[in-house]
Amino acid sequence: MDRLVINDLELNDKRVLMRVDFNVPITDGKVTEDTRIQAAVKSIKKVIVDGGKLILMSHLGRPKGEPNQTFSLKPAAKRLSEILGKEVKMAGDCVGSEVESMVNALNPGDVLLLENTRFHKEETANDGEFSSQLAAFGDVFINDAFGTAHRAHASTVGVTKTIKECAAGYLLQAELENLNKLQEAPEKPFVAILGGAKVSDKIKVIQNLVTKVSSILVGGGMAYTFLKAQKIEIGNSLLDDEHLSLAHNTLVVADNPHPHKKFDFILPSDHTVASKSNMAEFKMNDSVSIADDWMGVDIGSKTIAAFKEKILNAKTVLWNGPMGIFENDNFAKGTMEIANAVAEATAKGAFTVVGGGDSVAAIEKAGIRDKISHVSTGGGASLEFMGGADLPGIMALTKAKKKA
Ligand code: ADP
Ligand code: MG
Repeated sequence: MDRLVINDLELNDKRVLMRVDFNVPITDGKVTEDTRIQAAVKSIKKVIVDGGKLILMSHLGRPKGEPNQTFSLKPAAKRLSEILGKEVKMAGDCVGSEVESMVNALNPGDVLLLENTRFHKEETANDGEFSSQLAAFGDVFINDAFGTAHRAHASTVGVTKTIKECAAGYLLQAELENLNKLQEAPEKPFVAILGGAKVSDKIKVIQNLVTKVSSILVGGGMAYTFLKAQKIEIGNSLLDDEHLSLAHNTLVVADNPHPHKKFDFILPSDHTVASKSNMAEFKMNDSVSIADDWMGVDIGSKTIAAFKEKILNAKTVLWNGPMGIFENDNFAKGTMEIANAVAEATAKGAFTVVGGGDSVAAIEKAGIRDKISHVSTGGGASLEFMGGADLPGIMALTKAKKKA
């Protein structure tokens, strides 16, 4: 990696400003799901053990640039304190003289969580003055919030302007290293599985992948726009009209690839369809075309078999986007079977990555999350990264000197 990482930093007795992603679900003042907090614990413990004075900052929800106790990080401080088994001090704000006094009172190994950065509209505006106020709390900066790495905000990018050493935390580092493996010389066959609702969300990923993959398998709601672009009847299935021509162009590229970069582009050949008027009414649709008043809600058994064959022979797999409306058990089969196939490929030695909020929910539903090589928790950030974009939060980190 060409950026500083947490292990490159001298932390002892330093004020360590760390951006984490504590954007967790909270009900009645309690954290109901703490995966994101747990994910930052490795970096947090490192700072404590090394004798740094840790100042954590995060956003939570969308408080629209003003204080709103519904979006207070207090419950997150409480949860972190339970996890660490030590006190986590909570600041009433993220800037100002009171916070400054709390920062100055920190001893090595202490942990302070600043209040929601989005209580100030300057956060998302990446305001220079606000950024300097935050940056003044840290001798060094660590970013361990991959989920917001695609946003140029004060707490992710602004603070790096004045802090000399800005490094990736362990979580961010692992995301980058794993996602980079897909970009740089992935072992072939490399199979990308794409699904989910909207073509517009995923088209960049497809465009970035066409020069790298052996096969692209497309399922889920986005598949119907591609089928429609081939003049196949799709009934009332999801259609992204605006992106029909883009879908068509992608199919043309797939048909006429660069001679040395041939890849298969495989769309569903059968489906589970549900009645437009009543989703409880559903049936198998053995052909590729779908009649009026029916909508494709899952990939069919022929498609599952075809996708599985590709996946089980792969050495590298990237999966983003469910194969059907998997939240409904009647339409979850395609997604669950693909999840199990990806787990099986992993067991056979393939390097596998699953990314995307709903895709992660799907592998959890299938009970195979721990059977995947890398689960990217970034949502929008992982999509942009897989689309080949440079993420501002990463570009802002300090370049590492080349190791001799
Ligand atoms: P991710 O969050 O993993 O990137 P997306 O947000 O793109 O995935 O897509 C997930 C959504 O796509 C799910 O809510 C799922 O119900 C929906 N979906 C999947 N297949 C279909 C389909 N055939 N028709 C309509 N919606 C679908
Ligand atoms: Mg989603």
